[in-house]
Amino acid sequence: MINSSSYAMPDNRIELIQGDITKLAVDAIVNAANQSLLGGGGVDGAIHRAAGPGLLEECRSIGGCPTGEARITRGYNLPAKFVIHTVGPVYHGGKYGEAEKLASCYRSSLKLAVDNGLKTIAFPNISTGVYGYPKEEASQLAIAVVKQFLAGDETIEKVVFCCFDHENYSLYHRLLSTC
Ligand code: ADP
Repeated sequence: MINSSSYAMPDNRIELIQGDITKLAVDAIVNAANQSLLGGGGVDGAIHRAAGPGLLEECRSIGGCPTGEARITRGYNLPAKFVIHTVGPVYHGGKYGEAEKLASCYRSSLKLAVDNGLKTIAFPNISTGVYGYPKEEASQLAIAVVKQFLAGDETIEKVVFCCFDHENYSLYHRLLSTC
């Protein structure tokens, strides 16, 4: 793994790393996509570049995805077997259902993983890039939703929070160390 530190959290099913999600050999990496599913900047662009043109072709056949929902494709040239594309909310101040939509992204992605028999899944920090969701609030929400999901599920073996920037990594490290 490139430029990353990794350690197991107390319950052993949540892992935190700092690094590039496209390098992770998990069953599925989650893409912070846009509604078109046709690629974009940030982590979306990095995933499409690393996966190759087959990913775009399969995404085209899906025909888009509403905010808060998720869709699954194969991983093509990625080390991950599948990509789960979810569309995070654009942050407009917090009074437009952003938190519920962001929670739905994490829940829908995990449910799709379970429905497809997947055991290991890695998330980027959805919506905290160009979509402008405040990083601290997003990290609290992501951890709470994942913990709640895992409490009711025995099939997922590992959820990786893959932070690209140090600010997000520090936030997750602090929250995961204290709860
Ligand atoms: P959004 O539109 O949902 O905000 P972005 O891609 O702009 O999506 O940002 C989401 C998060 O993904 C940001 O925290 C950004 O630092 C992170 N990110 C960007 N590239 C990568 C990558 N290769 N691996 C993991 N995370 C990444």
